[in-house]
Amino acid sequence: MSTLRFYAVKEALDRKPVVIQEISKRRSELFCSKVFNLDKMKQYMNREAYQSIKNAVEIGQKIDREIADQVASGMKAWALEHGATHYTHWFQPLTGITAEKHDAFFEPTGDGEAIEKFDGSQLVQQEPDASSFPNGGIRNTFEARGYTAWDPTSPAFVMGTTLCIPTIFVSYTGEALDNKTPLLRALQVIDHAATQVCKYFDKNVKKVISTLGWEQEYFLIDSTLAATRPDIMLSGRTVMGHYSAKGQQLDDHYFGSIPKRAMAFMRDLEIECLQLGIPIKTRHNEVAPNQFEVAPLFEEANLAVDHNSLLMDVMNRVAQSHNFKVLLHEKPFAGINGSGKHNNWSLATDTGVNLLSPGKTPMSNLQFLTFFINTIMAVDEYADLMRASIASASNDHRLGANEAPPAIISVFIGEQLTKVLDELENVTNGKLSPQEKTDLKLNLVGKIPYVLLDNTDRNRTSPFAFTGNKFEFRAVGSSANCAGPMTVLNTIVADRLMTFKQEVDKLIETKKLKKDDAIFNVLREYVKKSKRIRFEGDGYGDAWVKEAEKRKLNNFKTTPEALKVKVSDKTLDLFKRHQIMNEVESHARFDIELEEYALRIQIEGRLLGDLATNHVIPTAINYQNRLVENVKGLKEIFPDDYMKYAKEQVEIITTISEKISGIKSNVDKMVEERKKANNMEDVENKAHAYCNKVKPYFEKIRIDCDKLEMMVDDELWPLAKYRELLFIK
Ligand code: ADP
Ligand code: MG
Repeated sequence: MSTLRFYAVKEALDRKPVVIQEISKRRSELFCSKVFNLDKMKQYMNREAYQSIKNAVEIGQKIDREIADQVASGMKAWALEHGATHYTHWFQPLTGITAEKHDAFFEPTGDGEAIEKFDGSQLVQQEPDASSFPNGGIRNTFEARGYTAWDPTSPAFVMGTTLCIPTIFVSYTGEALDNKTPLLRALQVIDHAATQVCKYFDKNVKKVISTLGWEQEYFLIDSTLAATRPDIMLSGRTVMGHYSAKGQQLDDHYFGSIPKRAMAFMRDLEIECLQLGIPIKTRHNEVAPNQFEVAPLFEEANLAVDHNSLLMDVMNRVAQSHNFKVLLHEKPFAGINGSGKHNNWSLATDTGVNLLSPGKTPMSNLQFLTFFINTIMAVDEYADLMRASIASASNDHRLGANEAPPAIISVFIGEQLTKVLDELENVTNGKLSPQEKTDLKLNLVGKIPYVLLDNTDRNRTSPFAFTGNKFEFRAVGSSANCAGPMTVLNTIVADRLMTFKQEVDKLIETKKLKKDDAIFNVLREYVKKSKRIRFEGDGYGDAWVKEAEKRKLNNFKTTPEALKVKVSDKTLDLFKRHQIMNEVESHARFDIELEEYALRIQIEGRLLGDLATNHVIPTAINYQNRLVENVKGLKEIFPDDYMKYAKEQVEIITTISEKISGIKSNVDKMVEERKKANNMEDVENKAHAYCNKVKPYFEKIRIDCDKLEMMVDDELWPLAKYRELLFIK
């Protein structure tokens, strides 16, 4: 076996689960121990400062400078007690997971002494030297004028020896340079819109929050084995590699017990997460070998998004101490399932009501139906924007590959609710007859909680499914920042709720309809209008692709195609109208995402070219030479009829030559296309060129490489094989 691969496999086989020091405390005691939450603030701050933060969190009130000083002082005291020596403004730039720049509390006073210094100004605003963060041309790079600003709605925490302060990242002219800022704006808009609609049903509602519960899938690979694979190290996925004889066919991993080393990792991950306030609840194996999932209890969306970003970061660190590499890529291995990140989403009132949970009374069910149908209507109207919100080079591998939802956005609601909507559709226009009202309220709306009890038919093939008390956006990729899809979802639902309110009010005013009649009337129209987006069948089948085409639902298979919608007039107008993003901000994101797409394909193309040229071809030639020697030897011994004995060898020699020449010519062509793409000025053209001209060579090159992997002596093969990478103990 090639030396490197040999030692890597040996090391991986010899490994034992890592035992990190025993923690005797209960999980509940660990929870939030490293978070400066309201509870801690009460202890470390005076009443005034505490109340001020509480108001900021609950009603979005601004915090003035003096209070910020007090908060900083309390935060510093707490952080120092928890071993922090540095602080950082922690933010989510437009690419990558999170960013931070550490500053020490330590400050010499000039007389040979020093103090720990941290006040309001350092808490509230910082100017990271951030010229290298993607900004899509918003800031001139030479100016590098962006700043981070404290987000008091997400509590600070201590990670290692650093106090991390969640912040937004904006330019000096006020444009958002990060993922969080538009999300916070969208959450404000949905709060406002949903609260107004809630008032039809309950005047006491003052605030509505958006809730998010993500489910993170990932792969664990032994770190030494991963190190034999430049593709895994540099792109997070294998660009070649023949399927293992045993993959996921037996489904034994999904139901099996968690491997010991993985279990030890999960245990540490959980402890770390709980201390940081991430309420991890479940862990289990996933469908593919070495694939796992971790999921928390749902939280307010901004916090949940921060917690997911933090989790991805923590996973990488914890994995290192367990000699693992975590793969968050959507498709690390061909032929076995990739990873997603389901986003469970709902809306909740400050009176404790989940607006997507059917209630006990007809009235609360009318409220449920209102939010339920408005959401469906919003998705129908902005399906393409939803698709764009989850587009990435890595997620392209997964969508529509019969393991995840297709790239066509649709909504699944289940048989029972379909019946309810069908009945609603037939309600007469205008004023409802007393009989209809009774039917609707008692027989239909009144029955919802009961019918849902047995609503177990979950459709795993739907990108956006109603699952009893929430919608589940399943098409989100495992490496994504949830802020993108959550910004879109909350904005489009808010937009629809606002229109809904206007339409209902208009019917009440002009047609003198009663409130309920007006609501039923508007909902009926929405049910009719949004019918095409509802799909209960198999989302993986070809039949759906054809049906969707008839329904005029788009099927954007690639990222460059899907992203276009981000700068359509309709999208620009939507975001502008609700002050989520102005045109500059929208265009900047579009450019950055296209640029990132092109870069990722470029990196993968280089990796594939290098591996094929430097690893695969030399190894194949090496093996071929052995065969040639063998044939020569046979010829010496049997000069007259050596072909009788060398026929197979010669065949293999020929095939190897064919494969090598196939690889060589395809790599050359790919490089040519890459050169052309690189010379393109326009980022959109460049992304399309990478997608349509460069990427198609990947599969061609890979097939030949994978064939050679199966032909060449196993002893010689330099890269860890799927069967070695994928079955940890
Ligand atoms: P499952 O779908 O596996 O049966 P659950 O329905 O309990 O499990 O929840 C799956 C995920 O949905 C969890 O991450 C959970 O936190 C989240 N979730 C549950 N209720 C809500 C809600 N109201 N809003 C957002 N997410 C939710
Ligand atoms: Mg799920």
